[in-house]
Amino acid sequence: APRAAPPTASSPLEALSAVWGYDAFRGDQAEIIDTVVAGGDALVLMPTGGGKSLCYQIPALVREGTGVVISPLIALMHDQVEALALLGVRAAFLNSTQSAAERRDTEERLLTGEIDLLYLAPERLTAAAGLLDAARIALFAIDEAHCVAQWGHDFRPDYLGLSMLHERWPDVPRIALTATATEATRAEIVTNLDLGDARVFVSSFDRPNIQYRITPKAQARPQLLRLIESYPGEAGIVYCLSRASVERTAEWLAGQGHAALPYHAGLPAQQRAANQSRFLREEGVIMVATIAFGMGIDKPDVRFVAHLDLPKSVEGYYQETGRAGRDGLPSTAWLAYGLQDVVQQRRMIADGEGDAQRKRAQSLHLDAMLALCETVRCRRQQLLAYFGESGAGPCGNCDTCLSPPKSFDGTVPAQKVMSTILRLQRERGQQFGAGHLVDILLGRETERMVKFRHTELSTFGIGTELGDAEWRGVVRQLLAQGLLQVQGEYGVLALTEAAADVLGGRREVMLRIEPERSRAPRAAKAK
Ligand code: ADP
Ligand code: ZN
Repeated sequence: APRAAPPTASSPLEALSAVWGYDAFRGDQAEIIDTVVAGGDALVLMPTGGGKSLCYQIPALVREGTGVVISPLIALMHDQVEALALLGVRAAFLNSTQSAAERRDTEERLLTGEIDLLYLAPERLTAAAGLLDAARIALFAIDEAHCVAQWGHDFRPDYLGLSMLHERWPDVPRIALTATATEATRAEIVTNLDLGDARVFVSSFDRPNIQYRITPKAQARPQLLRLIESYPGEAGIVYCLSRASVERTAEWLAGQGHAALPYHAGLPAQQRAANQSRFLREEGVIMVATIAFGMGIDKPDVRFVAHLDLPKSVEGYYQETGRAGRDGLPSTAWLAYGLQDVVQQRRMIADGEGDAQRKRAQSLHLDAMLALCETVRCRRQQLLAYFGESGAGPCGNCDTCLSPPKSFDGTVPAQKVMSTILRLQRERGQQFGAGHLVDILLGRETERMVKFRHTELSTFGIGTELGDAEWRGVVRQLLAQGLLQVQGEYGVLALTEAAADVLGGRREVMLRIEPERSRAPRAAKAK
């Protein structure tokens, strides 16, 4: 029989002050901890930085036995264990990066009751089941629980195997935690992890000190530079979609005299670790990264998070921007996005892996993200409403509150775009991307225009009332509103069913006036 570990702390509050040196619980922490200490299940929805870790770490110390933490963040396990060791907590991990000898050592210490917290990679659970049977388990914590949601934005198949926890160890309390949970994701967590009896704790997802700003992409680099220069010498994160643009952007920022470092999964592990450690330890480092960077990173004084490309979902956007301002001081979440982002993301979904259902889920995620980008409402209200929190008034600390966007009746420009698409398709059997469509509307006699004889189209040159950037803004907003769609491998534009009402004059289209626009169309020819 396993030897039980003696409880390391007698009460949650004692553990909080003796081990962590804090004197009070925050928000729901005390109630969550009491629930788990008493042997009950809990589902915890709390924003990044809200203090989720203590919710399972403290019950693991107070209850007899070892707290087993299932976490997908294998790369961080080592650091997490070391951080706990500094506090005097006996922690260890089991994952695929260890040698057999290291694993055996951890297994022995587990069986002799010398481990308070064991971090376990989800794919190791089945292999470790016999071991866990023989050990004394205080609780199971399922970190990043949204990974179990197949409709979610970060699904990990290994997480489905976690349903065995309840079947195999019905008496061990479970606590599932996540920082990103819409109503739908929450329901999936409950179903897939069999948490029907769990108490659910929902903290507000509002991060009042973060100022949200979403701006059309005109010239991304000078725009980014303006943001960075508004926080001289401060730390920030710049997210890019591709590894190549991470490297280009980091290099360019370095050339501008900023301490910018690249981070993406394609870099050698050593360089990644070195860059991450400089970001954490030095002041004023700007990390230019793919979204591979940031999960589990606890740096309180990140002053800005910039997105140079459109995130794939509101959940992702919220999670990434949530890395700003954990210390509660004023911070900025800034996103620049343009027509090309919309086209590219739609294409990535169409060309990507996964069945029709998966693609539909991805499209819905993108639609919600686009709605947030194009809204004329308070960004924070829209963001919180997405996570099921409504009722608060406009926040006064986002771009739409600070300088309300003006909208205009864009029905006529929308009709011009749509009838150009329609004519090309009906009269010529052709489809084109946004660039060529805008050239037609502006009446540009480009080589392609002449080659395709599009100068003869009746819509050639009918759009000189707007400039190039404005037309691209119109097309982008029509895409975002579901009135146009992107098709095929070249990203050509097509009408949606809803477009018929606009063309027929039965539906008005309201569009935002772009705040940053260039008014100098190249070589526009008046008709
Ligand atoms: P999450 O996992 O929800 O993102 P963490 O557990 O990493 O958040 O906690 C965020 C920060 O807040 C950490 O630095 C943590 O030590 C601190 N913290 C958590 N709970 C408290 C508390 N009750 N009092 C003071 N600081 C706390
Ligand atoms: Zn607002």
